[in-house]
Amino acid sequence: MLTNTTAASVGGQHRVLVVDDDCAIRLHARIILENSGIDVVEVGSGEQAIDILKRQRVDAVLLDVRMPGMDGFETCRQMRSMYRGDFLPIIVATGLDDREAIEAAYEAGATDFIAKPIDWTQLKYRIRYSINTRVMAEELAASHAHRQGLMQTIPDAVFSLDGKGRVTGGRLPASGWGDAAALFRVGYLLSETLPAGAGGLADQAVSAVNRGTGQASFEFDVQSSAGPRCYEVNLAAGGRGDMIALVRDFTDRRRAEAEIRSLAYFDRLTGMPNREMLQQFAADKLNAFAGTSSQLALMRLDLQGLEYTRCLLGNERANRLLCLFSERLNAVAGGPRDAPSPSPSLVGRVSDGGFAVVRGDLGGREAVRAFAKRLREEMAGSYTLGDYEIEVTTPLGIAVWDGGADMDALTLFDQAEMAMAQSCSTATFYSNEIRDQRRKRARLVKQLQSAVNNGDLHLEYQPKVDAGDRSLFGVEALVRWVHPERGAVSPAEFIPLAEESGLILSIGEFVLDEACRQSRQWNAAGRVTVPIAVNFSGHQFSKKGLVQGVMATLAKHVTAEGQIEIELTETVAMEHCAGIALILQDLQEIGIRTAIDDFGTGYSSLNNLRQFQFHTLKIDRSFVADLGHNPSARSIIRGIIDMSHALGMQVVAEGVEEDHQLEYLRSQRCDLIQGYLTGRPARGEVIQGLLKAA
Ligand code: C2E
Ligand code: MG
Ligand code: MG
Repeated sequence: MLTNTTAASVGGQHRVLVVDDDCAIRLHARIILENSGIDVVEVGSGEQAIDILKRQRVDAVLLDVRMPGMDGFETCRQMRSMYRGDFLPIIVATGLDDREAIEAAYEAGATDFIAKPIDWTQLKYRIRYSINTRVMAEELAASHAHRQGLMQTIPDAVFSLDGKGRVTGGRLPASGWGDAAALFRVGYLLSETLPAGAGGLADQAVSAVNRGTGQASFEFDVQSSAGPRCYEVNLAAGGRGDMIALVRDFTDRRRAEAEIRSLAYFDRLTGMPNREMLQQFAADKLNAFAGTSSQLALMRLDLQGLEYTRCLLGNERANRLLCLFSERLNAVAGGPRDAPSPSPSLVGRVSDGGFAVVRGDLGGREAVRAFAKRLREEMAGSYTLGDYEIEVTTPLGIAVWDGGADMDALTLFDQAEMAMAQSCSTATFYSNEIRDQRRKRARLVKQLQSAVNNGDLHLEYQPKVDAGDRSLFGVEALVRWVHPERGAVSPAEFIPLAEESGLILSIGEFVLDEACRQSRQWNAAGRVTVPIAVNFSGHQFSKKGLVQGVMATLAKHVTAEGQIEIELTETVAMEHCAGIALILQDLQEIGIRTAIDDFGTGYSSLNNLRQFQFHTLKIDRSFVADLGHNPSARSIIRGIIDMSHALGMQVVAEGVEEDHQLEYLRSQRCDLIQGYLTGRPARGEVIQGLLKAA
């Protein structure tokens, strides 16, 4: 870093200023020095010398003491006090035995002296030596300044230690060190002042540095007046058998790391371990259990009733429900309090309403079954949220690994989830049948995809007739898939698959397009067309641009207002309730009628439906089927019809198969009937025959 200052010499040459009133000496000096590659500037007085120094950089000065005007001593003094003068080698030429002059010269700041008459050979070496010494001194000073600067800027405390690890000095950072200063006391070994445990680590680090590793570090925690603190000590060899210790307070970093870990592995709302943590835990257990007779059970359960709560009572109460559920789950499945460490079980939240329990301490399948049964019973049931009682159900799937085949945590989770999807009223174990069903479903999805791509789907239309005179009021479009090998596949089977796989979006587009096309075609065939109801799935409501898409299809087929009705089930309405009310409003504004389908199967009450303002309500066919043998069905149907009318909705009864059902519905002023009694789903050509001529 100092080459810069020496490089001031011309072309890399050193430059010497010769100051002497005797021009013969100056000339001699010039010849000698220039011959040995040193540049020379010569002046005859102290004043001139100072002037030169102000303007030029020189690397050394040969200065006569006895000169007229300003003598050598004063010149020397002034040179020293000039900018960068402190390291300038000034060699003073004195008389041979002039001890006084020599002393005075040193006092004035001379670096060296040379006796007159000058030994010219010696001079050039003396000058070179002085210049080298000056370079080293400057480097040393700069290095010292650099170190000082570093010390000021680093946030660490710095201590010097002797070879045994005894503190010999140090510097604490300006702030934030508190009472931790007592941990590093001058005159004490680190092992004497650090907390127990850390002392041993300090000894080990000191020994390591002494053995020649050059550097060693350790960390320790301590309880200070400012709470728990964490320190990191880096020891490095100091070069003379001593050491330097840099001590950093990394409490904040540790806290941030803990926070990051908590974000990565814990659920914020409930504080429970999240899916990542559970998977990691299961993976660790699978590893640990490999080759032993231990078994690992994974139970997946869903909190059903959460969406309903969110829709009905808002987010805050839904979150409260999640917290209550997680507390109960911890109490029931969190494992015994005195469980050995590391814990054999872990309970956590894996998705919005999804929870999981991993247990490595249940012996045998029967024990797992009994535990799962109890878990399900205890978790289902009612939860109190202020004035509300929420009924919760909990499908539960179990996957067990008993050391047999290779297993990884992801597969175990998949298996438990597949089993949960099959679970209705009991806890369900994952089995080969479930696996095979899955595979079958996957195959079917693939075939459905080709059917969608190849245009192999078609629509049938089921009449909705007036309950009084049975005149045709409208139709419901029902999608049909004729499978090349299996024949007709029920929408009840393939619609859920389409929903799972996302195919429902293309199917939905096809159905609406085809219904609009059919309506126009009936018109073109000279018939008075009737409104067509089209079923929409929840996924269609989740997709952006639904209303624009519907508008485009209506425009494409020039479909008149009121000709299309969109049906959505009660469950869909409730699950998407946040955004759905607005979408329905937009749809109504572009002339679409709206209907709530399968009413009575979900959780909602008529009161909840008020926010949606449907045109039509369809009573689920299970109530109609119950008419005749379940006395309460009558009153339920009556209640629904009355309430719907009060809310301004038209009522359709679905699944009417028998006359007595129709009679009862008519007596209760049900508006429309849809069922095998009054018309099965049929192809568009068949329906065309039922339509009035225009
Ligand atoms: P849904 O919307 O409630 O349709 C009425 C279902 O009841 C139809 O079954 C219909 O054939 C059947 N049904 C009508 N009358 C009777 C009767 O008297 N007795 C009995 N037992 N059943 C009757 P389908 O066509 O099998 O459709 C089943 C469900 O599949 C539909 O229920 C609807 O939720 C869904 N679905 C059908 N087509 C579509 C569609 O295009 N898109 C969507 N998203 N879902 C559809
Ligand atoms: Mg329907
Ligand atoms: Mg229905």
